[in-house]
Amino acid sequence: MKLSRYNFPFFHDGKNYLYNSFTNAMITLRPEIVQLVDNWDESILSSIPKEAFDPLLQGGYLIEKEKDELTRLKVRNRMSRFSNRELGLTIAPTLDCNFKCIYCFEEPSRAIMTTETADAVYDYVLEALHDKKGLGVCWYGGEPLLAFDIMEKLTRRFKSLCRTMAIPYEADIISNGYLMTPEVAKKLTQEMSVRFWQVTLDGPPAVHNARRPLQGGGESFDTVLKNLEASCHLFERIAVRINIDRTNPEQVNELLGLLEQKELQDKVSVYFGQVQAIGAACPGISHQCLSTPEFSKVEMSLNRLLVDRGWPVSMRPSLKGGVCLADQVNSYLIDPSGNLAKCWNCAGVESQKVGTIFETKPNDNFFRWLSFDPFEDPECRNCKMLPVCMGGCPYDKVIDQKKDCFTQKYNLIDRLKLRIDGWKKAESGQGGKHE
Ligand code: SF4
Ligand code: SF4
Repeated sequence: MKLSRYNFPFFHDGKNYLYNSFTNAMITLRPEIVQLVDNWDESILSSIPKEAFDPLLQGGYLIEKEKDELTRLKVRNRMSRFSNRELGLTIAPTLDCNFKCIYCFEEPSRAIMTTETADAVYDYVLEALHDKKGLGVCWYGGEPLLAFDIMEKLTRRFKSLCRTMAIPYEADIISNGYLMTPEVAKKLTQEMSVRFWQVTLDGPPAVHNARRPLQGGGESFDTVLKNLEASCHLFERIAVRINIDRTNPEQVNELLGLLEQKELQDKVSVYFGQVQAIGAACPGISHQCLSTPEFSKVEMSLNRLLVDRGWPVSMRPSLKGGVCLADQVNSYLIDPSGNLAKCWNCAGVESQKVGTIFETKPNDNFFRWLSFDPFEDPECRNCKMLPVCMGGCPYDKVIDQKKDCFTQKYNLIDRLKLRIDGWKKAESGQGGKHE
């Protein structure tokens, strides 16, 4: 037997813990077992009592000598990325937006998908879905609700197709919330199979309105919050994203207070996004962006704030097969003109399209994205985070030719400690559910 290369031992609040990123398991260890694990040598195997040995084996902390975790991980990665099970589409029926956010990276465009292009999207799906076992759509923009009739039309046809094929259809939406009236939310959830809504609030009104004003000026906070309050019971899940840079971490506390006043604490989850200066359309905001190591610290202190205020937080890393649509063979973003892209940052960027819905032949960009391989990068190959990271954002490597590890690389142990604190708080009845 040998120790897994993906073990993370740590000490917290008087106890020893062992986390394993290959299995995503975590256990507490008695001090004498920690001693044995710290000074591992196969000859001490017989001194591990059975009640400690079995959990070490089950959680993958201790493995057979010949087991090659890296090779298995590579197969997990390939099977997930090149699986033919489902078609995953991010559809931007428009890149137009009713907001003018200070950090928006999309090229401004008023284009809305035409009925002819929507028909061509349906034909494309019909062809691409024939050997699949499910269709998942994420409505994206711009602001997708500006093209609600196109969303409705496509949904009707997708649902009917999936019914005929007896395969599941599911949808999510990323919407700034300004047009998410209860009537729209009802249609989305009850008729259009939308389960999850991601909405962004960047702080209390003054902060949010300065960062996410309406196109042409005007405030958006009150309308978004009113819609959120009125529609929150309709969705299966809502995530409020708070985009963080150097200027707004201090104001998060006030925003949480406002959400609590509306009793949204048990109805929505909150998470923090890192503002990054991406693409040519992104104005000069790099001076206010946090580097990833800086953001990882701020993210932890804000998550600590959530736990202290009794909010549920999800600190659990998740095992990854691939990273995102960029490295999955059957996932694409479709923009309003019918171009296919492999990354949300590339919506509407002609030079980065990987093909179009009108002809199924992918271009060279497609092969560049799909050849992204963290196992060819010596740092990733040797990294203990690989099972829960799979190489970080492909856009950074494929388009920007750089590498920027995800925040978990810098705050994994702090996340696990916070997760433990969250459990304790929930058990004592002082907090929400914690993953
Ligand atoms: S490549 Fe990076 S930026 Fe693009 S969708 Fe994937 S994770 Fe997001
Ligand atoms: S991107 Fe960074 S954190 Fe992720 S596997 Fe590679 S080296 Fe590790």
